[in-house]
Amino acid sequence: MNLSQKKVIIIGGGITGLAAAYTLQELARKNQAPVSFTLLEGQPRLGGKILTDTDTGFVIEGGPDSFISQKPWALELCRQLGLKDRLTGTNREQTATYILHHGRLVNLPEGVMLLVPTRLGPFIKTPLFSPLGKLRMGLDWIIPKKQTAEDESLAGFVRRRLGQEAVERLAEPLLAGIYAGDAEQMSLAATFPQFMELEQRYGSLIRGMLARRREMRERTPSGTGTSPGTIPTTMFMTLKGGLSELVAALVSKLDRNSLMIGAEVERIHWKSGLSTYHVRLKDGTALTADAVIAASPAYVTADLLAETDATLVRMLREVPYVSTATVSLAYQKAGFRHPLNGFGFVVPRREDRSIMACTWTSTKFPHRAPGDQVLLRCFVGGAGREEVVGLSEKDLVNRVRDDLRAIMGITEDPVLSRVYRWEKANPQYPVGHLDRLAGIDDRLTRLPGLFLAGAAYRGVGVPDCIRQGNEAAERAFKYLTVK
Ligand SMILES: Cc1cc2nc3c(=O)[nH]c(=O)nc-3n(C[C@H](O)[C@H](O)[C@H](O)COP(=O)(O)OP(=O)(O)OC[C@H]3O[C@@H](n4cnc5c(N)ncnc54)[C@H](O)[C@@H]3O)c2cc1C
Repeated sequence: MNLSQKKVIIIGGGITGLAAAYTLQELARKNQAPVSFTLLEGQPRLGGKILTDTDTGFVIEGGPDSFISQKPWALELCRQLGLKDRLTGTNREQTATYILHHGRLVNLPEGVMLLVPTRLGPFIKTPLFSPLGKLRMGLDWIIPKKQTAEDESLAGFVRRRLGQEAVERLAEPLLAGIYAGDAEQMSLAATFPQFMELEQRYGSLIRGMLARRREMRERTPSGTGTSPGTIPTTMFMTLKGGLSELVAALVSKLDRNSLMIGAEVERIHWKSGLSTYHVRLKDGTALTADAVIAASPAYVTADLLAETDATLVRMLREVPYVSTATVSLAYQKAGFRHPLNGFGFVVPRREDRSIMACTWTSTKFPHRAPGDQVLLRCFVGGAGREEVVGLSEKDLVNRVRDDLRAIMGITEDPVLSRVYRWEKANPQYPVGHLDRLAGIDDRLTRLPGLFLAGAAYRGVGVPDCIRQGNEAAERAFKYLTVK
């Protein structure tokens, strides 16, 4: 081996670790720099939470099913990997989202952007809010902005600006689908900093959203986006064969000899005198590296670092995680009575159901089911509702079917069912999360060459994980090449 050759170990072959590997490889190639990597994945397959099953004409996502296009990193990566023609958006004809309200599905009023009503007509007509609730939301125009910059819970913020009904019937159910979290605990600064910014800039969320809508219209006159490179985009994008296509494309570009699958890491040791990391695998294999990118869940990274820095380990262990599951059910289209006229529905906690959200997959992404079948995907578990994830497969499916019967009137037997359990899979960002990250960054200064990335830190969605993987690779590359 060339003496100046520098080696990076990447722990975790989810989308974060794979993006980090790809970026590092590209940086080394473009700069002709002697930097190589080994990616260690503990499981027998790569992709982490990204898991697509294809079954008799169905494309079934066990984990994420799409990514938000406003955050550019996933689209950008797809383009770089030559996946432009595989990208596909959501159905443009049937875009309604429903909210379960007193046992009935009520249309989310048109013009609600994120959580904020921006069109008066549909808002006044909706049965989702009481007249008093609507008046309370309107007070957002005149309630003064907060004077301090300190973090608060998402529910606390929405309650302060828009009232309790907006918390229960909009914020909590719509956001549970993203974070599987409890809005009363979730940090506003870590999850929706744009709301803080709107309040500070416009003094009102509604005024701020209206201004944003005007800006968006000016940028994309047709109302739908066209990203650079002219891929027609909808708010959520995916790949025709499922998000595993992204994993497969990344893997196909990476040097095969650099990937170790089924290689579970047990410990990371920092040898400060040698500026070297010793990485021990569960099977006893010992590896050394000049830098390490840990793209594993925070509680795993804490275990790996158990013999390095007790304060860092404690802070990593403090990142809470919740468990979730997805249950996909397919039915014969003939005789299926529900029109599936929209993207699906979300369920407020007070409705007391097992299902947190249900995507009408074969409407939202029509190519994901054969023409004579329909496909639904239900999301269960999350903060305060995790016990359902531990049910047997049969009981879990029955629980979901009970809910679908009550909510949508589905009495038919499914022709296919798939359950994917995700134990301790969804990191939570409670109030103070950004302070914890600052504390973690501070401790990391004592471990030069160690970089942490992934859903536990600065964004849980696929685009944010890709961005964090890219950034970790850039920082590792700089650390090794700029002395
Ligand atoms: C059910 C569900 C639905 C979701 N839906 C969406 C969605 O629609 N859109 C969206 O944008 N996001 C969604 N997300 C979030 C998103 O999928 C994840 O946040 C993201 O995929 C996490 O990527 P990651 O690489 O950081 O972590 P992971 O995917 O968890 O990867 C970490 C990897 O580290 C490996 N590992 C762990 N321990 C070790 C060890 N000791 N040694 C070696 N390897 C180890 C794991 O096996 C795993 O492969 C969803 C998440 C879930 C759970």
